[in-house]
Formats: sequence, C-alpha cells, structure tokens
Amino acid sequence: GDILKKRKIVVLGSRSVGKSSLVIQYIENHFVESYYPTIESTFSKNITYKGVEYDCEILDTAGQDEYTILNSKHAVGIHGFVLVYSVASRKSFDMVDIVYEKVANFCGMNSIPCVIVGAKTDLQQSKSRQVAPTEGEELAKRHHAAWVETSAKSNVNVAKVFELCLAEIEKTTSNSNNN
Ligand code: GDP
Repeated sequence: GDILKKRKIVVLGSRSVGKSSLVIQYIENHFVESYYPTIESTFSKNITYKGVEYDCEILDTAGQDEYTILNSKHAVGIHGFVLVYSVASRKSFDMVDIVYEKVANFCGMNSIPCVIVGAKTDLQQSKSRQVAPTEGEELAKRHHAAWVETSAKSNVNVAKVFELCLAEIEKTTSNSNNN
C-alpha cells in the first residue's frame, strides 16, 4: 500500500472559544459540557478527503491572547492552521487577526493555509451572537482563508473544519515538495 501523507494541523484561538470541544467532537463523537482547560493535547486521525487518505495529527492548544508569545511548536512543521473564535465573543473574533499575524510573521509568509472557524453557533437564538456571519466571511476573504461556522454542541460542520483545512493545505502543497 501507499504511504499515507502526513498532515499536522494546529488549533489556535482565544481561551474557551470551544477549541477542545470541537476537536473532541471530531475525534470522539461526543460533546463534553465541561472540559478541563487544555494545556495541550495531540490527536491522530486518518482523514479521507477527495479520495486521498491522510494521516493527520491535530494539536489542540491552551489558547492565545494578545500577550502570548507564539510557541514555535505551533508553527514549525505545521501544515495547516485552524483559527477559532466564538460567535458569542467579539473579543475572540478580534483575536483571530492577532494570532493570524503572529503565525504568518513567524513563518515569514503573507498568508498561511488556514480555516477560520466561528464556533458555538447554537448560541445565536439566545441573542448572544456578537459576530455576524458576514464579518467572519470578510475576515477569511482578507486572509485568503477558508471559513465555516460550527457548533460542537449540536455537531454542526465539525468534520467540515478539518476537510477545509486539508483543502487549504493542498492548495499550497500542490506546487511544492510537501507530499
Ligand atoms: P477551549 O478553551 O477553546 O478549548 O474551549 P472548550 O472546548 O474548553 O469550551 C469552553 C466552554 O464552551 C465549555 O464550557 C464548553 O462546554 C463550551 N462550548 C464549547 N463548544 C460549544 C458549542 O458549540 N456550543 C456551546 N453552547 N457551548 C460550547
């Protein structure tokens, strides 16, 4: 058989936006109401996307803020980035830009293979939405990134996040020796 292509994906964003819940829902197919704040965990999953099977490593992080110095482990050797905000938190949305710039700067790139995720969409009924879908779309467009809204709680668009991330990675690896 063929050797699977390895893809390393890191999940970044403010604390408590739902990064761990998203990853846990994806890997273990359940929603944890109260999960311990993550220090850092790595998960492995084989993902088949467009008929190709990838051996993916997903790195869940504690979360970043404007004062966080980017951990080199969250950029070096990473193929794709998942940048998460909560649709119920304007501050977490603003943080996406800051984290994006830190990563791009670290990598010496104008743009990085990235999917921007608006999490916790199930909260929109309760007037708690602070970020409109169009704002998320515009942010993603500005960074040439993919964008999707999800709910780990209601299991909406969870797998989509990682498929979009692989798609973004393929866009940038198709002309390079990254296979
Ligand atoms: P992290 O710090 O970014 O990893 O965030 P967590 O995954 O630990 O989630 C923080 C809090 O938000 C927890 O209380 C979760 O139960 C809650 N949460 C996570 N995802 C969702 C979601 O899709 N909908 C709702 N309503 N709450 C969520």
